[in-house]
Amino acid sequence: MKKEYLYSPGPTTVPPEALGVMGAPMFHHRTARFRALFAEVVEGLKDVLQTKNDVLVFAASGTGAMEASVANVLSPGDRIVTVNGGKFGERWGQLGRAYRLDVDELMIEWGTAVSPAQIKKHLTDKVKAVYIQLCETSTGVATDVKAIAEVVGKSGAILVVDAISGLLCDELLTDAWGVDIVVGGSQKGLMIPPGAAFVSVSKKAWGLVENSSLPRFYFDFKKAKKSGDKDDTPYTPAVSLVRALRETLALIKGEGRDTMLANAARYAAAIRAGMQALGLELFSQASSNAVTAVRMPEGADGAEFVKKLRDTWGVTFAGGQEALKGKIFRIASMGYLNEFDVLTAVAAVEFTLRSMGVAFTSGAGVKAAQEVLLG
Ligand SMILES: *Cc1c(COP(=O)(O)O)cnc(C)c1O
Repeated sequence: MKKEYLYSPGPTTVPPEALGVMGAPMFHHRTARFRALFAEVVEGLKDVLQTKNDVLVFAASGTGAMEASVANVLSPGDRIVTVNGGKFGERWGQLGRAYRLDVDELMIEWGTAVSPAQIKKHLTDKVKAVYIQLCETSTGVATDVKAIAEVVGKSGAILVVDAISGLLCDELLTDAWGVDIVVGGSQKGLMIPPGAAFVSVSKKAWGLVENSSLPRFYFDFKKAKKSGDKDDTPYTPAVSLVRALRETLALIKGEGRDTMLANAARYAAAIRAGMQALGLELFSQASSNAVTAVRMPEGADGAEFVKKLRDTWGVTFAGGQEALKGKIFRIASMGYLNEFDVLTAVAAVEFTLRSMGVAFTSGAGVKAAQEVLLG
């Protein structure tokens, strides 16, 4: 009998409250019942994002909302700045090029965070939008969004933040910091299955939408807003996911946004301490509280490690991507987890390293993590 534990940076574990409603009989979305549900969910998302801006919801994985945040605000040939410090920052550049934009792609060393000064250097008058990540999931790096928003806010450009993995783990104050578009997804800190994504759109961003001529159809901000203003969606919404989201948003509200953030910080700190106590090196130089990237010890293969974890103990971590394949593993600490889940993850590392013949003091990782959790 194998019990499954999910520590992947999406999808994450879905709490029973949300699983329950997804099994309930389907109902039609063009109804007062759905509109009431949708209105409640949008309010909840606004609270998570700390924004009064419009929040538009799409039936798509997170990348759909990323694409929407390119296609709705720009015109062919417009200049944008993207930051390639990992797989997801790279995706902003790929999206920009797919839409024939003039992409100024900052190449930074994977594992490091882009600085506000670097962004500032690239912010010429021509730049229409700057695209960054709150958490770069492929490297476990958190970006200083607040400081970058300050820099971008003084320019004519808008700031677009992919907060899909960072949300509810790394702080993000959309309105207070002046972030124009925030992109979120369902299957990470929001604790529901993949398939729903959303954006918040500021006044400044709507100004760009008005003048944008890139092609778009399904992912149309204006259409989504027109329906959204009536608590509706232009096309069939992911009804089951919206239902599930009401449940997890209620859990988040019950726990308190600040408590969620504080817990995420504690869990990530415990994981980092646990890894270091085992003699492992952290990969990120600016640690996110959503996902921790850890270097594999010399001579041990990360791909084998991740496979062994899953096949032997039912524990799912993520491996490294592209150049980091086999070199790192990643433990997500987003959403539905507690102290004991954190200790389980660290213990699973010990079990697997032992089976691979890596030397360390048994229990050292769990002990260090537990010390952090005990406070
Ligand atoms: C998961 C993730 C996405 C979205 O990926 P999908 O597979 O489209 O859901 C985008 N950005 C970041 C930082 C992510 O972690």
